[in-house]
Amino acid sequence: MSLRKMTRRVMIGNVPVGGGAPVSVQSMTNTPTEDPRATLEQISRLAEAGCDIVRVAVPNLRKDHLLRRALRSLREIVEGSPIPVVADVHFDHTLALAALQAGVHGLRINPGNIGSREKVMEVAEAAGKRGVPIRVGVNAGSLRRDVLERFRHPTAEALVESALEEIRVLEGCGFYDIKVSVKASSVPLTIEAYRRLSCEVDYPLHVGISEAGPPWTGTVRSAVGIGALLAEGIGDTLRVSLAGDPLQEVRAGVAILKALELAREGVDIVACPTCARTRIDVAGIAAELEDRLAGCRAPLRVAVMGCAVNGPGEAREADLGVAGGRSKGLLFRRGEAVGWYPKEELLSVLLSEIEKMEREYMEKHRDSREGG
Ligand code: SF4
Repeated sequence: MSLRKMTRRVMIGNVPVGGGAPVSVQSMTNTPTEDPRATLEQISRLAEAGCDIVRVAVPNLRKDHLLRRALRSLREIVEGSPIPVVADVHFDHTLALAALQAGVHGLRINPGNIGSREKVMEVAEAAGKRGVPIRVGVNAGSLRRDVLERFRHPTAEALVESALEEIRVLEGCGFYDIKVSVKASSVPLTIEAYRRLSCEVDYPLHVGISEAGPPWTGTVRSAVGIGALLAEGIGDTLRVSLAGDPLQEVRAGVAILKALELAREGVDIVACPTCARTRIDVAGIAAELEDRLAGCRAPLRVAVMGCAVNGPGEAREADLGVAGGRSKGLLFRRGEAVGWYPKEELLSVLLSEIEKMEREYMEKHRDSREGG
């Protein structure tokens, strides 16, 4: 894999983005922002699954009292969230100013619709005073009219040109705490746009495929697009955009990082595709492990293999592995065969071994954090 492209670093709350920091995973809540309890519950689930930064939409409410309630709620969300909160603002720059007052750790504005240069400058000034980074989030579906007229279609050049124009506005007011994204729903177009953009700027890039689709298709499209970029060393933070539960987005984002061996933490499950030789319930065990270990922080590779052909080799290479036999499975722990266990006990044996290994990891991690 290519070396990661070195970018500047911005801080979204306590999460570094760019400048060699680990690629962070983002998602966006889909609960009403006016409902802090539901939103905080969702954020907790996302954080547990590996989300590093969460985005919350600031609704464009016409009635003043509703808007005031949403902003009060946003403040509550920021204060109660276990991870940094980015406010997503469209159409109205005063919402960006209000979100800053609510204490958000980052802003995402869409230059295509936030308004005049003066309004963008006003937001930049306020963000600068608070040390809050701004993401210039260009989207193929909402390019500014003048850019669209010039390029006729939302091409890669148009996306990049639009981003550069907005970056210039921010730089013009001495604001450099910038993250950039140039998303489209077309995977090749998005890849092309990010490739061009990464040659033009050294700001950290937020990568993703916009409106990727329902969970299955959207995950594949995002994995192809985001994966191709990350494999080239492009991208500092990512979001998988799926139509559905944002938990799926986080799981997909974490899985993309694991697939590219860019994840710092979490269980990576490998499982054989099964065939006529399969002796144990590979699919069932692997699916259960995936589900139950979504919140596990230990960086472990777990292999579930169906038989003695490829099984022992792969299981031995993993931190923990099992290879199916006639009515039992052979368990391996860090390359050593531990013993045979009845088929029906394999899942619980794996889970309890993983729990032990996670405890060991957490203790070691705590010791090193404390300077031990
Ligand atoms: Fe088949 Fe064994 Fe390969 Fe699994 S590991 S696919 S059971 S040959």
